[in-house]
Amino acid sequence: MNAPVNWKQDALEILASLRTYIELQKLQGIREFPLTAAPVRETKQVCPSRNKDALKAIREDMGDCTRCKLHASRKTIVFGTGNPDAGLVFVGEGPGYDEDMQGEPFVGKAGQLLTRIINAIKLDRSEVYIANIVKCRPPNNRDPQDDEIHACIPFLKRQIEVIQPRIICTLGRIASHALLETRESITTLRGRFHLLGSIKVMPTYHPSFLLRYPEKKRETWEDLQKVQKEYFNR
Ligand code: SF4
Repeated sequence: MNAPVNWKQDALEILASLRTYIELQKLQGIREFPLTAAPVRETKQVCPSRNKDALKAIREDMGDCTRCKLHASRKTIVFGTGNPDAGLVFVGEGPGYDEDMQGEPFVGKAGQLLTRIINAIKLDRSEVYIANIVKCRPPNNRDPQDDEIHACIPFLKRQIEVIQPRIICTLGRIASHALLETRESITTLRGRFHLLGSIKVMPTYHPSFLLRYPEKKRETWEDLQKVQKEYFNR
């Protein structure tokens, strides 16, 4: 028998996405919205993916990883989620409490905001790939330390090699520093593309930072608009 559909939850999620989209548009100075429907974007046909198997092989290589001290306090290894053939990958710093519990990146409050940001650039969460620099939760949500990043980042680099996205959006200082191998401030890094090989990398603020400093949403939206333009204008 089919599972009952949670219409109320679905409706609340749609309303939350719509509210974020309108908030972001208002930050851009848009005050009116046309009543005509936007053209429906063709959904990419999903083919069986070899990348899916390659990602699975990386996860199997990790096993019950004890390569750094974060293994001691984690509940779950949070490997990554989304489209194995994604053109756009989001990279955060590490799992928090909700992610550690559920085994999926960006599922807590910051994750819900990230989902709304993804929707605001007219993508669905299932179309992108989402991962973190370290795959186990640092105790008390502290920043991952250099030795932990050093131990874990080879897995993320292998994931990126498999997926071969055109664009990576790094969320926050830790992810931007680790992937771009720089110590420049996030304020200096954000707002322009950097190169990781041939991949364009856009650093922006972490959604949990935006929850604390909502006034930074305007700059984040500017960054994401550049990502959207790059993604859709091939
Ligand atoms: S953070 Fe990465 S390297 Fe450290 S134990 Fe977890 S999976 Fe292994």
